[in-house]
This record gives sequence, C-alpha cells and structure tokens, in this order.
Amino acid sequence: MIAPKNWLPPFMLETYRSTNKRTIDRPEWPNGARCCVSLHIHVDAQTIWRALNMEKLVYISNGEYGPRTAIWRILDLLDRYRIKASFFIPGWTAETYPDMVRAISAAGHEIGHHSYSHTLADMGLTEDGGWDKAVEEREFDRALHILQGLTGQEIRGYVPPGGELSPHSIDILLSRGIEYQAQCAADDIPYYWEIDGKPCGLLEVPTHWSIDDAPQFLYTLIPQMGFIKGPDEVFAMWKGDFDAYYHYGRCLVFQVHPQWIGRPGRLRMLERLIQHIQSFPDVWFATGREINDYWRRRYPPEEVYGLSVDEAAAPARA
Ligand SMILES: [Zn+2]
Repeated sequence: MIAPKNWLPPFMLETYRSTNKRTIDRPEWPNGARCCVSLHIHVDAQTIWRALNMEKLVYISNGEYGPRTAIWRILDLLDRYRIKASFFIPGWTAETYPDMVRAISAAGHEIGHHSYSHTLADMGLTEDGGWDKAVEEREFDRALHILQGLTGQEIRGYVPPGGELSPHSIDILLSRGIEYQAQCAADDIPYYWEIDGKPCGLLEVPTHWSIDDAPQFLYTLIPQMGFIKGPDEVFAMWKGDFDAYYHYGRCLVFQVHPQWIGRPGRLRMLERLIQHIQSFPDVWFATGREINDYWRRRYPPEEVYGLSVDEAAAPARA
C-alpha cells in the first residue's frame, strides 16, 4: 500500500503499535464519582480556515465569530453552571485577541497550547515531507510565550494542529513541561503514551469525533466536507453518549469550537445537555489539567506498567 504523503511518520506507527495494553475496566474517580466529564474548547478562530486552505471572506468570517461573539456567551454559560473548562488556543489567535485570552484565564479556566498557526508548518514540515526540529521548537515556543505572557498560567496541556505529531513533537512537548495531550481516541479513559513499550511521560486525555462538534456542525461550500445537523439531533446523540459513559464509568471529553458550538441554537442545546449531566450528583466535571493531575496520582505509570519508579521516570528514548 502506498502511504499518502506526509502521513504518519514511521516513528508514530511504532508508537501506536505498542499501545496495546488492556484498558482499566472500572477506574475510580475523585470523591466516589461515577464518571468524569470535561469540556475542551478549541479557539481556532480564523486559523482553521487557513489550515483547510480556505482563506475566503465567508469562511474567515465564520472563524471571526468565535472571538467576537461566541466566546463571551460561552464564558457566561460556564459561569452560570459553575464549570471550569480547558481552552486550547493557537498562538496566532491569542496574539490577535489578547483581551479574550485574559478574560478566559481570569474566569479560572485552563489555557492549553494549540500550536502557533494551526498548520503543519508549525511542526517544521518541509517541502520534501521531512520535519525540521528547529522550526518546530521555534514555533512551539513562540505560542507558549504568548499564552504564558497573557495569562501567567503554566501550560500543561497540548492539542496539535491537524491531528498530527512530528517525530520530534513528543521530545519537544516533554522538554517544555507539557504533561498531557488531548486529541487521540485509543481509549475512553486517560492512558500513557508509550515509546518502545514503555511510558514516555506524556498522558493522553482522549476524545472522539462523535463528541466533537466539527463533524456535527462544520459546513463548507464543498458539501462533502461536512453537513449541518440540527441541535435536537446532536442533543440526542450527546445525551446518549453521556448516559453510556456514565453507565461504564468513563471519561467523556467533549471537544467544541466557539465558531460552531457558539451559534445560538447550538449553545442552547449545550446548555440543555449540561443541565442533564448536572442532574446526576456523582459526575466529576474537570479540566484536562485536573484529570491529568488526578490520573497521575491514582494510576501512576509505574503501577500501570509494573515498573520501578526509576524505570518509569526514565524516558525510553534519548
Ligand atoms: Zn484546532
């Protein structure tokens, strides 16, 4: 089979192959909670349209809707239901909308790293399909400094642009104090990233497309790229997802984007969903960072892998 250009680098394929441990059936959650729910908000704004190569006015205006209109309504919603969320923000967006980033952080939400420009160029993708580590470090640090400078937060969570990692990404993330990533789907509870069968220090807080708003609401003038679903249809699906995650005691990570979820009809749907979830007293609503901190304490890598503390602490790869 011929792999598409710039598809998974061989390093990543090896990593995925080693992730074949059996899941933990009934994980414990804090204070006897039955399951965990987390809201991850990707404030891509205009960058997503550049990443999709669709820099036309009508698309860009969709991106602009996030910081201009949707984000303020979302902050109000979270405040009314006393929910702390994780906001993953590209450096470009933060630089362009600094007041928005300060407001999100001042409201007590977690700020996560989401690349600088939301394109694979952030990871040093070269013309010949290689990956330039120096470029990736420079772009990563550029975004990190912007986010830290605006909020004073220590950044612990990361979502890569376009669902990809370069062969250098994990080294760069770990060297910058990133402890968890939130984009993959190999489990429905957190799991450790492995290199050569050993935990490398990075935790995944997984999500899935079915609980992401883009596959439900992303629409472009190229119809096969996505269709618009009605809020009631998505409510029924997400309510069903929550009920099942609750049944099995899993970690439900909704991944949403202000420019899609923040449209009035959809945000009212999200509010109804929050009301449904909060009608259960034994649900732990947590940020990605809180999940990361809890999981590392309750299920430390040495215990999960049966390693000594030293073995677990040593990165598997130089
Ligand atoms: Zn994004």
